Amino acid sequence: MNKFVPVNEPLLNGNEKKYINECIDSGWISSEGHFVETFEKEFAKKFNRKYGIAVSNGSVALDLAMLVLGLDHGSEVIMPSFTIISCASAIIRAGLKPVLVDSDPDTWNMDVVQIEKKITSKTKAIMIVHIYGLPVDVDKILNLAQKYNLKIIEDTAEMIGQYYKDKPCGSFGDISTFSFYSNKHVTTGEGGMILTNNQNLAEKCRSFKNLCFKKERRFIHDELGFNYRLTNLQAALGLAQLENLEEHVNKKRYIGKFYMQNLKDIKYLQLPKEERSYAQNIYWVFGIILKDNYSHDADYVIKELEKLGVGCRPFFWPMHEQPVLKRMGLFKNEKYPVAENLARRGFYIPSGLAITDEQLNFVVKKVREFFNASI
Ligand SMILES: *Cc1c(COP(=O)(O)O)cnc(C)c1O
Repeated sequence: MNKFVPVNEPLLNGNEKKYINECIDSGWISSEGHFVETFEKEFAKKFNRKYGIAVSNGSVALDLAMLVLGLDHGSEVIMPSFTIISCASAIIRAGLKPVLVDSDPDTWNMDVVQIEKKITSKTKAIMIVHIYGLPVDVDKILNLAQKYNLKIIEDTAEMIGQYYKDKPCGSFGDISTFSFYSNKHVTTGEGGMILTNNQNLAEKCRSFKNLCFKKERRFIHDELGFNYRLTNLQAALGLAQLENLEEHVNKKRYIGKFYMQNLKDIKYLQLPKEERSYAQNIYWVFGIILKDNYSHDADYVIKELEKLGVGCRPFFWPMHEQPVLKRMGLFKNEKYPVAENLARRGFYIPSGLAITDEQLNFVVKKVREFFNASI
């Protein structure tokens, strides 16, 4: 029996099939078709936002968000070094300059204390990225934004259904973005969403995602847009997934708590924090950091655990150590030791929504065996 437990498997046990069948039966499979609009409306409502614009993935959601904000060329945008490349590439493609801050060693989110020192006369925005399970300490950033008149872009890809205090993550940005990749809490296979309360930004996103067709006459264009449309098939999946969001969030917390309980005594491992004053961990993925008392790095552990049947992924690699960004002359001699440590000593274990109790027990058994912890 092949016992390999994959790092992620999506859960598609609601109305997914029914809605997809509706698309097929009706022939509405492109981005025209009622599921797209319904999904946008329902999604925006869930996060208390006025406008939802569905797009083809979370990366282009960030691209569009940065583009439509229309910040002056060369303006600086503060973001965490420890995140996915999509955050930096969106800033750079919009003609702006990413400015980095290090991570908090406990939450792995951007260290809000370091932001103010990085603000200059060129700073025009802060990109909040909620990472792995706990939200960024948003209030501190909103205060800075007000004090210095900065825009907020909020990347909510990993925090769908999470709350900061009593408000949903994804309700804080001038523009907030989401991904529906297959490991996210709402998945459409590939997909994304932009939420905002600003009508002007919403209209620009809608136009740019659809080639900037002129309203009065199709095939005439004042600007160069993109085809970033989500299909009706994808939106059908998304709507069904959204209906089960609470269930998905509960399952993530169940997985997280199971691992916490069963791995917390292993002396080599730093596990996620269960909570902060402003939120309970949602465990989008279950991240583990190898402590200094363990001699190997995460790459080694990942390889060995995979041999034992436990699918793993390494953590992000920091932006200031990205070959492509260094070649552009960015981040010369900059050091962010927490992000560097997370990248080298962090990894995550299977935490997909479809994981079974049997698989969870298997993972725990193998991880404990590997670290010579008794069962
Ligand atoms: C998944 C993810 C994205 C990118 O989403 P795609 O849909 O894969 O393009 C962006 N930001 C963060 C933080 C993510 O986790």
